[in-house]
Amino acid sequence: MSQKVRVRFAPSPTGPLHVGGLRTALFNYLFAKKNKGVFILRIEDTDAKRKVDGAEEYILRALRWCGLSPDESIVNGGSHGPYRQSERNGYYKKHLDALIAKGCAYYAFDTEESLAGHREEHKKIGKTFIYNWHNRLKLVNSLALSSEETKKLLERKTPHVVRFKSPENKTIETVDIIRGVSKSESKLLDDKILYKSDGTPTYHLASVVDDHLMEISHVIRGEEWLPSLALHSLLYDAFGWEKPKFAHLPLILSPTGKGKLSKRSGEKAGVPVYPLEWSKENKIKGYKEEGILAEGLINFMAFLGWNPGTEKEMYTLEGLVEDFSLEKVSSASAQFDYERLLWFSHKHIQERSGADLMALLIDQGYGLEAFSEEKIQKTLGLVKERASTLVSLWSAGSYFFKAPEAYDEASRKKAVKENTKEILLALVGALEKADDFDSKPTKDFLEKFFEDLCKKNAAMKMRDIMLPLRLSLVGSLSGVEIGTIMSELGKEKIISRIHAFIKAC
Ligand code: GLU
Repeated sequence: MSQKVRVRFAPSPTGPLHVGGLRTALFNYLFAKKNKGVFILRIEDTDAKRKVDGAEEYILRALRWCGLSPDESIVNGGSHGPYRQSERNGYYKKHLDALIAKGCAYYAFDTEESLAGHREEHKKIGKTFIYNWHNRLKLVNSLALSSEETKKLLERKTPHVVRFKSPENKTIETVDIIRGVSKSESKLLDDKILYKSDGTPTYHLASVVDDHLMEISHVIRGEEWLPSLALHSLLYDAFGWEKPKFAHLPLILSPTGKGKLSKRSGEKAGVPVYPLEWSKENKIKGYKEEGILAEGLINFMAFLGWNPGTEKEMYTLEGLVEDFSLEKVSSASAQFDYERLLWFSHKHIQERSGADLMALLIDQGYGLEAFSEEKIQKTLGLVKERASTLVSLWSAGSYFFKAPEAYDEASRKKAVKENTKEILLALVGALEKADDFDSKPTKDFLEKFFEDLCKKNAAMKMRDIMLPLRLSLVGSLSGVEIGTIMSELGKEKIISRIHAFIKAC
């Protein structure tokens, strides 16, 4: 095997890429870049029944959005292609035949019904049927049959699978960078199917063959594949190939900490688990549509199982590449905490300039094009402190760009009194008269207006003006300092928004 670091992210296109898969992609990417290596995207689509239309394209889009572009893939090509397993059957067949010739794999002709019968019989006596050394000679396979019988069955195209001949008595020692050394006994393994009756490989054969042929130096994947490690290790030995190094990433737990994070547990907790919208069955929003910044998501995901061992929390992708190491990945499960994701997204929004935020909002489809860049950048700069997503950034600043379409009911109850209409009309009058409104501080204008009102009605309070005024301009009682809002909007817009509010009262 070459010394060069070559890693692969190998999703199956069975649906949208889930946050767990994205974390695997991220750690592969970081490890590759840190070690000046190659990050490969391999599509594991050998199971045609589970393939979902649009999933492959979704995976590519999601990786692109996160900035995790592969060096070799179905799109960019590369020296070790093709990168779609459904196009590599020739390789699997060739290496499978070599295994059979070596006596490490065998043809099995048992029907589904006969296997179900064996399972049933074992169950009756409280045992579990395992197809392995223990009983393989009593079953219908090329180890039990004569070579003539096997030849005949194959010539007659009798449906069959190819199974791995698991050794009877071997202690298998595996090494995982994150978890260390572990031992298991081969006698407990079943003779896994390597090649299915439909003429396609199973995951185990395809992934070992591809990892070897693609010169993968490190297999970095989710913990759910840890139970397959012993089998994969035996397969490498059977082929006579050097093994890559392995690292199995910790599980990501649901927001409640109970069980694995899944589409369902995410839904239950009301949090998205996909990077982008998936509109196959029901429309499911992704982080992008929730307005979470890709940088925030990446930063958050890096901490799902890894930490730099320092106090540092804020990271760009480049910073992560610099500090990442597999040795600092923990084997303990990581709990998915959506609030923390929002916190990271908030922090990354603060790092972005008004111009960047403007571009992101326009990309999200917010109609900002009609306003001057200067105005947009300035106002976004004013409100970004309040935002943890682009959605909340827009709602924190949208009143600068468009008049409220509705008024928050609870705020209306609080702000509107008997004399509100009268006060607002007086305010409009004062604004119309104020020729120097644009050149003088708004604060002075409001104070003067308040003083004049107090002369007529001593019981008047500043909030009697401020609350309905803010509600007219913003649509709720939130927003930045009122003087800033007024000077940004200008006299004309203020007057028209007050009139609209009076009408709606
Ligand atoms: N196709 C497998 C998956 O989708 C990849 C397992 C591996 O990385 O070996 O999880």
